Amino acid sequence: MATKMKQLTPLQQLLCRNKHCQGPVMIKRNKAIVIGGASAASKILGRLSGDLENLNKLNIIPKLVPIVIGNVAESQVYINHKVKAAAKAGVDCSVQHYPNEITQVELLEKIHELNQDPSVHGIIVQLPLPQHLDEHIICNAVFTSKDVDGFTSSSLGRLVQGVDSDCKASYVPCTPLAVLKILQHDVDIKFKGLNACVAGRSHNVGMPIAMILSHDAIKGGLDLTTTICHRYTPPEKFADAVSKADVIVTAAGVPGLVKPEIVKPGAVVVDVGINPIINPDTGKRKLVGDVHPDVAEVAGWMTPVPGGVGPCTVACLLHNTVLAAKNSGTHRST
Ligand code: ADP
Repeated sequence: MATKMKQLTPLQQLLCRNKHCQGPVMIKRNKAIVIGGASAASKILGRLSGDLENLNKLNIIPKLVPIVIGNVAESQVYINHKVKAAAKAGVDCSVQHYPNEITQVELLEKIHELNQDPSVHGIIVQLPLPQHLDEHIICNAVFTSKDVDGFTSSSLGRLVQGVDSDCKASYVPCTPLAVLKILQHDVDIKFKGLNACVAGRSHNVGMPIAMILSHDAIKGGLDLTTTICHRYTPPEKFADAVSKADVIVTAAGVPGLVKPEIVKPGAVVVDVGINPIINPDTGKRKLVGDVHPDVAEVAGWMTPVPGGVGPCTVACLLHNTVLAAKNSGTHRST
């Protein structure tokens, strides 16, 4: 997917880095290289083919159970993507659908049954939940060994200690893992010591992304010097943080939050935002990210919305599920 780019000599790169206004690799391009998307997702899945073959030889089909409550249209769209991708990858995905009226006790009982079922390797609870269900209690009811969304307190706590992307002890949340894999495999630069800005600090998206970017490479991170912005960051401080960033990741849910004039030329831009808006020209609903499309004229690399981070997030869910199946004989059941 990445278009061919001119390589700079090490001296040219050094000269460019010394111009503080420039991105990590200052190459004059007409448009940012497109990163993420279907080709990145298939690379993530391709790296699992050996594990899948070994499991199949043992007659083990990785099994994922998404739990969906009620009839949230958006949730249905996301689940359909997951079911389709799982079928293509050879992962059994058996959705359990429950009515909006299910009580917390009943839902906890269902999760408990799945925790005890050895044929089930991964359990995810599609968010958002109806108001009467406590997201924290429900998500934490999933055994860490089956928490392929990485949403339990113990999985998130382990992420503070380092990025366990081989899933030896816990699973990294799928969207943050997708951002990491896109940066590692689609962007050919050394991140160590560069600046990053993350817009958004939600506990299962923005915050884990910031942790991963700033973790030591020895612990699976990218060694980026990371600034986190949120809804109370004043616009001028936000513009300042973004303009200094070599890597910008947005997970704010604010269409057009990042405008081209605040982006460092050559920066890497990963847009996690998925915002439904009405197209004023057609009156039809469409999805846009947090990054203004004109940023593609300034950035060096950029993910599209839709179809950038999303397919990689689904691939990471399947990655975690396959590794959960692989680990199922060795993990403690908690
Ligand atoms: P998600 O779970 O997808 O990250 P949430 O709605 O839970 O979405 O969180 C949105 C995050 O975006 C919050 O952390 C919020 O502080 C942040 N945010 C909202 N508006 C802005 C803004 N103008 N600039 C930067 N961050 C913002």
